[in-house]
Amino acid sequence: MMLPTIVLVGRPNVGKSTLFNRLTKTRDALVADLPGLTRDRHYGRGVVGSKPYLVVDTGGFEPLVDSGILKEMARQTLLAIDEADVVIFLVDGRNGLAPQDKVIAERLRKSQRPILLAVNKTEGMQRAIASAEFHELGLGHPLSISSAHGEGVRDLVELALENFPEPGEEEESQGNQVPKVAIVGRPNVGKSTLVNALLGEERVIAFDQPGTTRDSIYLDLERNGKRYTIIDTAGVRRRGKVFEAVEKFSVIKTMQAIEEANVAILVVDAQEGITEQDAHVSAYILDSGRALVVAVNKWDGLEDDKREWIKREIDRKLQFLDFAKFHYISALRKKGLGELFHSVDAAYKAAMAKLSTPQLTRVLEDATMQHQPPISKGIRPKLRYAHQGGSNPPIVVIHGNHVDGIKESYRRYLAGVFRKAFQLTGTPLRVQFNQGH
Ligand code: GDP
Ligand code: GDP
Repeated sequence: MMLPTIVLVGRPNVGKSTLFNRLTKTRDALVADLPGLTRDRHYGRGVVGSKPYLVVDTGGFEPLVDSGILKEMARQTLLAIDEADVVIFLVDGRNGLAPQDKVIAERLRKSQRPILLAVNKTEGMQRAIASAEFHELGLGHPLSISSAHGEGVRDLVELALENFPEPGEEEESQGNQVPKVAIVGRPNVGKSTLVNALLGEERVIAFDQPGTTRDSIYLDLERNGKRYTIIDTAGVRRRGKVFEAVEKFSVIKTMQAIEEANVAILVVDAQEGITEQDAHVSAYILDSGRALVVAVNKWDGLEDDKREWIKREIDRKLQFLDFAKFHYISALRKKGLGELFHSVDAAYKAAMAKLSTPQLTRVLEDATMQHQPPISKGIRPKLRYAHQGGSNPPIVVIHGNHVDGIKESYRRYLAGVFRKAFQLTGTPLRVQFNQGH
C-alpha cells in the first residue's frame, strides 16, 4: 500500500517547519535524536492513530518570495505538490491574510489536489475570529491550529487522511512469502547498474504501475533457487524493446519503495563518499523500521588510501546503521553480489523472526538479573515478561510495573541483549514497555 503523502505549503514564517517537526516526532522516532540529521530534513514519516503517512515541508526549498512579491512557486515545491495526496496550506492567523497567500491559493487551486487550509498560531485567539478573513481564499473552511502548542494538529491530520484506509494487517506468515527488496540511494550511485547486474537479460517487469515519478518498478528475481521481488527506484523501465529513462530523483518515491519493502539495499558510492543525501535516505530507512543491507558500490579500481578514506567516512557518518551489514561491491563488474544477497537473506530472516513469549521472557529475566533497571524517583521498575508485538521490524513488548521510569539507556541495553540472543542482524529492533498486566 502506498502511504499517503501530505505536503506543507505556505509563505515563509507561517510555521511550516514547526508543524513538520511536530508531525514527524513520533514516539519511537529514533531519527529525531540523531545529531546532524534533523537539519535540512524536509521529508519525514508521521503516524496518526495507526495510519502512517509521509510529510514534506516545502519551506526549505527555493525561496517563494522575490523582493517581497511572490512571483512563482519554486520548482521543487511544485514537484512536491504534484506528488501530494493532500496539501496543507498554512497561513498565519496573527499576521492575517497576506497578498502572497492569495497567489499561493491561486496556484494551489490549479493543482487540483485536495487542499486543507490551516490557520496557524491561533493559540489564545478566538478560532472563528482568527480564521474569518481566510474564507476569502476560497479554499473551504479554514481550520485553526497552533503548531507550536499542538492544538488542532491531530484533527487536521485525521481530516487530511480520512479518505485513506487503515493499513491492512501484514501477511505475517513467513512460509512462502517472496521477500521484497528495494534498491535505493541518491542518483548516480549505481542502482540501475546493480539492478541490471542482478537481472541481466532476464529482466522482467513483474507488475508495473502507472508511470508517475513516485512509482517504482517491480521486478521478479531468482537467485540460487530463491525468489525475490526487486523494487527498482532508479526509473529505467523497459517496455518491449524500448528503454524509457524517467529518472528524476524523487525522495517520495524512495520513501514509498522503502515502506513497501521488507529489506532495503542502500547503495552508496565509494568514489564519492557519503553525502548528506545518503544520510537522509538512511534516516528514512531507520524511521520505517525496514531491514537494511548497505552496498558500498564502485569498489573496483579504488586505490588503497581511497578505500581507507571511505571506510572512515562510513564510520563517521553512518554510525547509526550499526545494525546493518556493509558490503563492498562493484555492480559494474558484478563483484560481491553473492555475499550481498546472503546478507539480504539474513536480514529478511531477522526481520521476520518469530520470537516466542517464553524465550523472550527468559532472555528478559537474564538481562534484568545482569543489570536491574535503575531506580527512578525512589522506585525500581519491575519487568515481568515480554512478548512479540510485530515483525519487520521485530517489536518486543515488555510488561511490568513503573515502566514509565525506564530510561532510554536501559531500553537500549535491553535491545542489545535481545538482538544478540536472537541474532537479529540487519534489522532495526524496537523495544516497548507496557504498564500493568
Ligand atoms: P516556516 O518558515 O513556515 O517553516 O515557519 P517556522 O516553522 O520556521 O516558524 C516561523 C516562526 O513562527 C517561528 O518563530 C515559530 O516559532 C513561530 N511559530 C510557528 N508555529 C507557531 C504557533 O503555532 N504559534 C506561534 N505563536 N508561533 C508559531
Ligand atoms: P543510478 O542513478 O543510481 O541508477 O546509477 P547508474 O547505475 O546509472 O550508474 C551511474 C554511473 O556509475 C554510470 O556511469 C555507471 O556506469 C557507473 N557505475 C555503476 N556501478 C559502478 C561500479 O560498480 N563501478 C564503477 N566504476 N562505476 C559504476
